[in-house]
Amino acid sequence: MRVRNSSSRTVLRIAVAVPVLTVVALAAIIGCGSGDVPEFDSRSAFTFLEQQVDIGFRYPGSPEHRELQRYLTGRLQDFGANVSLQPFDAVLTTGDTLHLINIIGNYNRGASKRVMIAAHYDTRPYADRDPDPANRDKPIHGANDGASGVAVLLEIARLLGQNEPPVGVDIVLFDGEDYGREGVPIDYCLGSTHFSRHLKGYRPSAAIVIDMIGDRDLEIMMEGYSMAASPELLGELFDIAGELGFEQFRRKKMGAIIDDHLPLIQVGINAVDLIDFNYEYWHTLEDTPDKCSPASLEVVGKVLLHYIWRQ
Ligand SMILES: [Zn+2]
Repeated sequence: MRVRNSSSRTVLRIAVAVPVLTVVALAAIIGCGSGDVPEFDSRSAFTFLEQQVDIGFRYPGSPEHRELQRYLTGRLQDFGANVSLQPFDAVLTTGDTLHLINIIGNYNRGASKRVMIAAHYDTRPYADRDPDPANRDKPIHGANDGASGVAVLLEIARLLGQNEPPVGVDIVLFDGEDYGREGVPIDYCLGSTHFSRHLKGYRPSAAIVIDMIGDRDLEIMMEGYSMAASPELLGELFDIAGELGFEQFRRKKMGAIIDDHLPLIQVGINAVDLIDFNYEYWHTLEDTPDKCSPASLEVVGKVLLHYIWRQ
């Protein structure tokens, strides 16, 4: 089953009225200082993915969700981040209330220029895209959809703990991205929505959300809202990927996807989403680590690190 271009909850089948970016080869210009960029360890990152999945089903309200919060907080502290928690309650259109926590780790706190990198850590409580109807009320493992983005950010955190970045870096792990039912977009992206409404003057120069980037068959295209709102940032990330020789970044536009970057964009933050939405195991019981690869995590991790070290 392929979900690409389906009438799913997240893909808006609207044509994004944005011209394809005119791309200029900047490799010769931007190839500075790459020798200082810490080396992303793909095996380490993949271990962080596996450890999350090993915890169990990590949807809000489950004991495993709480255990994951402890795991993430502990890792960030181990890696030298200044860790803070942003707890909040979210009331869904169903009337249910979820107790959620965004987890934030800061590096180089004294720097005024800051780059935010973010991913959601919660997993979906129902495999409503599973081919077998009997599975559609069961929770998913979320190896790609949940664990992959966090795994990359934890590996970056490990490296930032050993190598102070040239700018401030804020790692934001969002809760409550994936609890909503299809067709009810307001019940998605709860953590990023709360975060965006409580910025207290926080204004990163760039915010890069990563989601579903562990697919073994990785293909990242230019997401619609990102192209419309933050074309320069998106172009720079694709430039870096091109310079590093990562063909997994394809300069093709894709549909607009409701994800954690959208609430950030809506409050004026320069934000993009790096996502591979062509993943046949999306929201099924088959979203397991064997569908992901260390190499895919490395591609995205290296692009983020090089971006940070070029600021
Ligand atoms: Zn999802």
